Amino acid sequence: MKGKLYIVATPIGNLEDISLRALRILKEVDLIAAEDTRQTLKLLNHFEINKPLISYHRHNEEIKSEILIEKLENGENIALVSDAGTPGICDPGEEIIKKAIDNNIEVIPIPGACAMINALIASGISTKEFTFLGFLPLNKKLRKQKLDEIENSQKTIIIYEAPHKMESTLKDLKEILNKRKIVLARELTKIHEEFIRKDVDQILENISNLKGEMILIIEGNTSKNDNQNELNTLTLEEHYNYYKENGLSKKEIIKKIAKDRNLNKNEVYMQFLNK
Ligand code: SAM
Repeated sequence: MKGKLYIVATPIGNLEDISLRALRILKEVDLIAAEDTRQTLKLLNHFEINKPLISYHRHNEEIKSEILIEKLENGENIALVSDAGTPGICDPGEEIIKKAIDNNIEVIPIPGACAMINALIASGISTKEFTFLGFLPLNKKLRKQKLDEIENSQKTIIIYEAPHKMESTLKDLKEILNKRKIVLARELTKIHEEFIRKDVDQILENISNLKGEMILIIEGNTSKNDNQNELNTLTLEEHYNYYKENGLSKKEIIKKIAKDRNLNKNEVYMQFLNK
């Protein structure tokens, strides 16, 4: 019989945040695949779990996946853990999970801490719909694309950021956020846990004093929604003229109106045939 692959979430700071089930699975499996074996050893020692560890990190994912799949095929049960939180969420995991599925190996998630969810739920910003962007790219063009996406998103945005890059990220966000709310969640579940609910300028003033792990939660662009609702109360002619005054070409206007009003592009085009 094939073994099972357990994806086990571990604490993001406070060691009490590990589930009874996670502890049982870590005790029962044959092998634990860990992002950083030294880090996981500390966790295992704390809970007096003694298990063989094998490293599985971003730079060996491909090769290690093959080895782990072979072990799973031979009936070994394996738990995958990352340094903190949920494996696969900005952490290694995707590769082995895909391979396990391709090989008809059962993949079982063991729920637990995930920094973004906890930052979001206590942020006070809407949890109805959200987009998790992970870390913003450093490449200029890709970063600009992500910033455009944030600028236009009507959904709540969640961003992970390394402490030493937080200042430049906040400076970039300052250019696009207008008056949208932003919350910086820091050191979640740890002694210095803090939610900073100020505007970007105020957060930036104090950024050099902010240490530890951080996440940003950004309110969706609701002004866009209001503006769009307002546009849809206009006549088609007025709607057309609004975009014309904003310098858009006929083709662009037709595309925009169709999108705003959820109409077929050809339908809108026919209305403005002689424009
Ligand atoms: N897999 C993890 C999870 O489930 O959230 C995320 C790992 S990712 C490599 C690390 C990033 O997560 C950090 O740079 C930070 O943005 C965020 N993070 C992790 N732990 C955190 C904590 N205790 N407080 C605030 N942010 C945290």
